[in-house]
Amino acid sequence: SGTLTVGGLAEKLEKDTSEIIKKLMTLGIMATKNQDIDEDSIELICEEYGVEVEQEVEVDENDLDLYIAEDKPEDLVERPAVVTIMGHVDHGKTTLLDSIRDTKVTAGEAGGITQHIGAYQIEDKGKKITFLDTPGHAAFTSMRSRGAKVTDIAILVVAADDGVMPQTVEAINHAKAAEVPIIIAVNKMDKEGANPDRVMQELTEHELVPEDWGGETIFVQLSAIKREGIDDLVEMIQLVSEVEELKANPNRNASGTVIEAQLDKGRGSVATLLVQNGTLNVGDPIVVGNTFGRVRAMVNDLGRRVKTAGPSTPVEVTGLNEVPQAGDQFTVFDDEKKARQVGEARQQKQIEEKRGDKVRVSLDDLFEQI
Ligand code: GDP
Ligand code: MG
Repeated sequence: SGTLTVGGLAEKLEKDTSEIIKKLMTLGIMATKNQDIDEDSIELICEEYGVEVEQEVEVDENDLDLYIAEDKPEDLVERPAVVTIMGHVDHGKTTLLDSIRDTKVTAGEAGGITQHIGAYQIEDKGKKITFLDTPGHAAFTSMRSRGAKVTDIAILVVAADDGVMPQTVEAINHAKAAEVPIIIAVNKMDKEGANPDRVMQELTEHELVPEDWGGETIFVQLSAIKREGIDDLVEMIQLVSEVEELKANPNRNASGTVIEAQLDKGRGSVATLLVQNGTLNVGDPIVVGNTFGRVRAMVNDLGRRVKTAGPSTPVEVTGLNEVPQAGDQFTVFDDEKKARQVGEARQQKQIEEKRGDKVRVSLDDLFEQI
């Protein structure tokens, strides 16, 4: 979509540029008048002024959503939560993801090698949880701006010795915009300067009030490096996921989102797909973003070959004609002919868009409508 500068937004909203800049600062975003701002920030600013941003919807006969019918309530069953870990750089996101995986996935079960496919699953008291280990930010910004919603629960990691930092605030804003529940992981509790009260105090200023203080936000104190508090965090994730009543219909064609994708010398296009509804099978005709194919092989996060993948399962897939992009949607079709037809039409459209004669909705267009 198009671009909008801070000054341009101020004009649209009939406000002083300095006022908008100040608002952005309170959201943890430093910007100058002529700087472009992203859609998420625009939405947040508009919200502050009680202005709703409407997205223009173009009817496109090759839109994958058209092929996804609604489920009947009686066909829905519980599915695992999909969790993203966010937070300021160096506050311990990667360490936490590693600790959770190492604590909850037994090596024997893995049959040796665990594989990095951008997401992994653990099992705790008979219930699975899916963790995306792509950077939380990418998961929200690139995927959300493209209409994909993959995260059910956001874990916000805040180092107890450092407190709330700019990217902490950014993460809060993304999670709030996506309307996902946030669990606070107060990390590095083993450090000398750890001050969890300060973290709670600072987050209260962002309307994340701890349960102990009469609020509704769950805080878990932990040390990712010493692997202390991991069980508490997992327990809280299970609790929140129960409240959310996450459901899907496993008995239908699969649909979902690309988590990551790349070209592999030997295997061709390799994409990690998160199945969000239905069950994905080897042999399924599939359209993924602007490419298509037939699922040739699937490998799970434990490096094992699998034939099927149900809701909330991440799986690495080969058999696509080209490499899709993170955030692309995918849908399985009953027959290969239809998949090819839709895939080719989408590819054609992409080629035309690249040539420049694209039909585009700029943010200015969006603002004409409010
Ligand atoms: P990320 O940038 O958020 O992914 O942070 P990392 O996981 O890479 O961690 C940044 C640094 O903090 C590394 O040196 C980690 O070893 C360290 N670290 C992470 N968690 C803890 C913790 O619980 N305690 C202590 N003392 N250090 C930690
Ligand atoms: Mg990291």
